Amino acid sequence: MKSPINVTITGAAGNIGYALAFRAATGAMFGPDQPVILRLLEIPPSMPSLTGVGMELEDCALPLLHDIVLTDNPAIGFRDTDYAALVGAKPRGKGMERKDLITENARIFSAQGRAINDNANADVRVLVVGNPANTNALIASANAPDLDKSQFTAMTRLDHNRAKSQLASKCNTLVTDVTRMTVWGNHSSTQHPDISNCLVGGKPALELVGRDWAIDHFIPRVQRRGAEVIQARGLSSAASAADAVAAHIRDWSMGTPDGDWVSMCVPSDGSYDIAEGIVFSYPVTCKAGQYKIVQGLEVDDFNMSRLRASEQELLGERAIIEDLL
Ligand code: NDP
Repeated sequence: MKSPINVTITGAAGNIGYALAFRAATGAMFGPDQPVILRLLEIPPSMPSLTGVGMELEDCALPLLHDIVLTDNPAIGFRDTDYAALVGAKPRGKGMERKDLITENARIFSAQGRAINDNANADVRVLVVGNPANTNALIASANAPDLDKSQFTAMTRLDHNRAKSQLASKCNTLVTDVTRMTVWGNHSSTQHPDISNCLVGGKPALELVGRDWAIDHFIPRVQRRGAEVIQARGLSSAASAADAVAAHIRDWSMGTPDGDWVSMCVPSDGSYDIAEGIVFSYPVTCKAGQYKIVQGLEVDDFNMSRLRASEQELLGERAIIEDLL
């Protein structure tokens, strides 16, 4: 058995955090032979509820769960942590403008960036889930000067998985037949799911489903899937979001399969002519804890116009919180 690693989940008493804690403790992220110490961080009003999450985790008698730390102190929550999933965020309140939402979360994520910088393992890998996730990741990394910017990512994995499922269903096949899916841009309604490089059973997806289906049905369906789930369930996605967190961290830590890639929001290095520095969703391959943006894909004028729209939105978000960078 390996020695345990520290895994921090913020907002751990919330809907996504609750579903995620059990996945992190049952091998879904790091494999069946990697024990974990869960460090669950909440805000003071949610501590009673977090205590209940801790009790349920104990009650599972999970062999991989070596310890549980429940805290509202970021210095303890991020102490020596190896992986941090930043899920807790301020939700949009009634009458709240988008600008206010971005600014309020900017304060939370700049403080968390500093706490990670000062307390986490130097190799820590951070995944930001709380919205606006891409810009929250940018703020957190800007406030962690001792860490490399590449250590901070944000999540489009749920969008990526939704896109794979929609395409598999259209082609009447299994998701395992769908490879090379890409979601570009911001985790928002400007995200751009793109099947132009996608293969289904080794054949180009566009030849199987046609461009009209991709533009008129597939792209809007993936973009609006979150709203569709809310309408059906009366609540936002939680288990599927937690599953996507586990998949993002698992692939980042253990690698992507040969010949395939996943979508991750990572700091742009200017690839595909996207402004450097903003946290943008790209196709990436992962190996031994490192990711690389897939290079050389063809992006036609239609797709590029969608990438530009998402880039512009992220530049606008960055302008709102420039003083915190
Ligand atoms: P959820 O667990 O449902 O969601 C948490 C965050 O994940 C939200 O910002 C949500 O964005 C975001 N998210 C990102 N991707 C997705 C996706 N694909 N589907 C759904 N959500 C997504 O929120 P809860 O309110 O249940 O729990 C939040 C917890 O965070 C609470 O326990 C609270 O105590 C804590 N909290 C911590 C704060 C802090 O750290 N200072 C501040 C405020 C709350 P969106 O809202 O856009 O759906």
